[in-house]
Amino acid sequence: MTTIVWFRSDLRLSDHPALVRAVEIGRPILPLYIYSPEEERPWEMGTASRWWLHHSLKSLQKDLKERGLSLCIEKGPVLEVLKKWISKGKITHLLWNQRYEPALLAQEKRVISLCRSLGCTAEALPGDLLFQPGTILTQTGNPYQVFTPFWNACTKEEILPPLPPFPKRWKSPSMPYKGLHLEDLPLLSDKDLIASWEPGEKGAWKRLKSFHPKTYQKERDFPAEEGTSRLSPHLHFGEITPRQVFATCRETPFLRQIGWREFAHHLLYFFPKTPFQPLKSEYAGFPWKKRAAWLKAWQRGETGVPIIDAGMRELLETGWMHNRVRMLVASFLVKDLLIPWQEGAKWFWETLVDADLANNTLGWQWCAGCGADAAPFFRIFNPYIQSKKFDPKGEYIRRYVPELASLSSNEIHRPSHLKPLVDHDIAGKAALLLYKKWAKS
Ligand SMILES: Cc1cc2nc3c(=O)[nH]c(=O)nc-3n(C[C@H](O)[C@H](O)[C@H](O)COP(=O)(O)OP(=O)(O)OC[C@H]3O[C@@H](n4cnc5c(N)ncnc54)[C@H](O)[C@@H]3O)c2cc1C
Repeated sequence: MTTIVWFRSDLRLSDHPALVRAVEIGRPILPLYIYSPEEERPWEMGTASRWWLHHSLKSLQKDLKERGLSLCIEKGPVLEVLKKWISKGKITHLLWNQRYEPALLAQEKRVISLCRSLGCTAEALPGDLLFQPGTILTQTGNPYQVFTPFWNACTKEEILPPLPPFPKRWKSPSMPYKGLHLEDLPLLSDKDLIASWEPGEKGAWKRLKSFHPKTYQKERDFPAEEGTSRLSPHLHFGEITPRQVFATCRETPFLRQIGWREFAHHLLYFFPKTPFQPLKSEYAGFPWKKRAAWLKAWQRGETGVPIIDAGMRELLETGWMHNRVRMLVASFLVKDLLIPWQEGAKWFWETLVDADLANNTLGWQWCAGCGADAAPFFRIFNPYIQSKKFDPKGEYIRRYVPELASLSSNEIHRPSHLKPLVDHDIAGKAALLLYKKWAKS
């Protein structure tokens, strides 16, 4: 008699509800990971996320092995793989931690009926959020669409402490089973530039422990500093949980950011079409422009605006971008270039190691002015002023745009020899005019 723990984006052993439940059941545990990109279409993992997944699975394999368990890796449609395993017999329980992305919720329903038909108990445990979607609602019973009241409501509720750790050893099933080798999954490409990361649960804890939440508020907006936690890919892949972050850091300004993650996930649950469609439906007909050459230049970090190019190159080199710069490059794409936010979201999806459907959707709709609690469209970031304010010595620009490294701190933000794709002063005004005309129509 065996329990399967089906791992998804919860690649850790601590504060893991499904593992804790499996230990309560007391039977041998078969840990299973199923790679099924087709089922996540059109949001199957991008190149950077696949790179992360490979290393995170490797780390999980090692951690499980130290406890006497062997991770079984499979590839293919989830239902087929689960059916194969459960039909082999002796599987009494299938356990997993719940996810709230629309495609995964639908998949869970199918898995539950499969288990029912095969006589196996299926249990989806509350997953990687502080609160289940649907438990934090306005007084009229609706989902919040503004962050501050949402977060105020969250902070009135009890945040549960992390669950007990997984035992040092556990029984593995006696029946022989054979999965794939990790190397058989098509996760790694020939580009391996993301060397400063350490994917996996140990790497997540190292990040959390080396982070100083006390100086967060002061340093969080300066991209040349390591002022933010850089926990985003670890949180996305579930190598650490928001509960664990809460139990470790008690500084409110930082914990508010975890609140934004929570807000994004609750919104996606209630508004599942938002990865494609604006939450504010009046933006559906906004006259965005198709500008393929400009989009490519933005993607490559060749816009001629130093802070924008630094951000886009940081993304390509490291798979991550500082939040302040994410806002700037997004604003530049949608307002200066008038390219649809969905194009930006798609590029981030391909290149971010922390690509997350809920957070990415919220971030892009916020910048485009069409989402929950969004910056109004008419508020347009001036990339040159922002650059001087948040990268005053030009250190960040020098790091990622080396051809400008010899320029003085004054010149580097707007070098006279560079010809940007658009003149921000003209493009900003044009965007405003277009917005006003469209808002009246
Ligand atoms: C256009 C755009 C796209 C974005 N796409 C993503 C994405 O795909 N994945 C992603 O995790 N974040 C995304 N963000 C949010 C934010 O930029 C990152 O979470 C943050 O930069 C990650 O760095 P950090 O871990 O050092 O953050 P910290 O500032 O240390 O914050 C801690 C954690 O809080 C959460 N968080 C922080 N800010 C936000 C936010 N605005 N919205 C939701 N959660 C937040 C993240 O999980 C983050 O790891 C996006 C923001 C914008 C403007």
